[in-house]
Amino acid sequence: MTRLALTDRYGRTATDLRVSLTDRCNLRCAYCMPEEGLAWLPRPALLTDDEISRLVGIAVQWLGVTEVRFTGGEPLLRPGLPGIVAAAAALDPRPVLSLTTNGLGLDKLAGKLADAGLDRVNVSLDTLSPARFNQLTHRNRHADVLAGLDAAVEAGLGPVKINSVLLRGLNDDEAPALLHFALAHGYEQRFIEQMPLDAGHVWSRADMVTADEILAALSAEFTLLPDPAERGAAPAQTWLVAGYPGPPKVGVIASVSRPFCGACDRTRLTADGQVRSCLFSREETDLRGLLRAGASDEELARAWHTALYGKPAGHGIDDPTFLQPARPMSAIGG
Ligand code: SAM
Ligand code: SF4
Repeated sequence: MTRLALTDRYGRTATDLRVSLTDRCNLRCAYCMPEEGLAWLPRPALLTDDEISRLVGIAVQWLGVTEVRFTGGEPLLRPGLPGIVAAAAALDPRPVLSLTTNGLGLDKLAGKLADAGLDRVNVSLDTLSPARFNQLTHRNRHADVLAGLDAAVEAGLGPVKINSVLLRGLNDDEAPALLHFALAHGYEQRFIEQMPLDAGHVWSRADMVTADEILAALSAEFTLLPDPAERGAAPAQTWLVAGYPGPPKVGVIASVSRPFCGACDRTRLTADGQVRSCLFSREETDLRGLLRAGASDEELARAWHTALYGKPAGHGIDDPTFLQPARPMSAIGG
């Protein structure tokens, strides 16, 4: 029974929780992490598996969260992931459980995660070229991602979605090829506009490959049909592809050029136990400190509720006073 909804002062209610399980990663995607990595959070700062499960339980049972997505950093690097998934799957009411991963190691873990109760995965893949993959991620692991995708389908973690970020001069010509690949395998393709969440703070709007450009490139090879399904709070605007009845669909997450903040239903928990009301927040609420000081479930729920009540109306990227958050995407949880 929900006792306190995560409603903000603009009337939005957060029901979708993104939990970052670690800030560490085994790739170095150019739009996310520098080649040399980052100063990782010290181990004692990270929530333990039990602390994560307790906070997820509070979100679901006190605050009305209905969907939980595990992310990072790279969530498959967290040894306790199957146990964390199983604890979330045992909650009543049971939330929908998904995972966003770079796919490395998913070939070995997909079955175990499905058995633990995971419902779906999104796998990030920005290119079909192993050489470009090396250039983009600084790691020679393209084949491992493809193996992870196959394993996800085999384990029943569908519909499997592919997340792709296009970077100018690197892979900005690959939108049609990625969609061909996704359609051929039954994956749902999602293109994400590059956001100002890179560790190097070098994002530039002028360089960003926009939703309009992506849709123009796709339309040169495919006929995109309006998706009759209600969009709701989904970040992706989706289309059906003529000749491919029903799903798979293709979607574009145009956070920058077509913001969807007015319909946002998300709240975020970082790996070190900070609640954020928005990816672009510059403020966080420290649930870890409260939890370790002995706060009750009700006290933690009230603190979370207060944090969300102050959620900003929008990310303000177009505002001249916009400041990129201090933490990059990998540390917040994408
Ligand atoms: N490591 C996992 C992965 O790559 O899927 C999960 C974490 S990653 C931060 C989550 C998603 O955020 C990925 O799909 C990634 O492409 C996306 N992402 C990271 N930095 C981004 C940026 N600056 N702009 C847009 N998307 C970004
Ligand atoms: Fe790692 Fe994901 Fe960031 Fe790439 S996008 S560096 S895989 S956290």
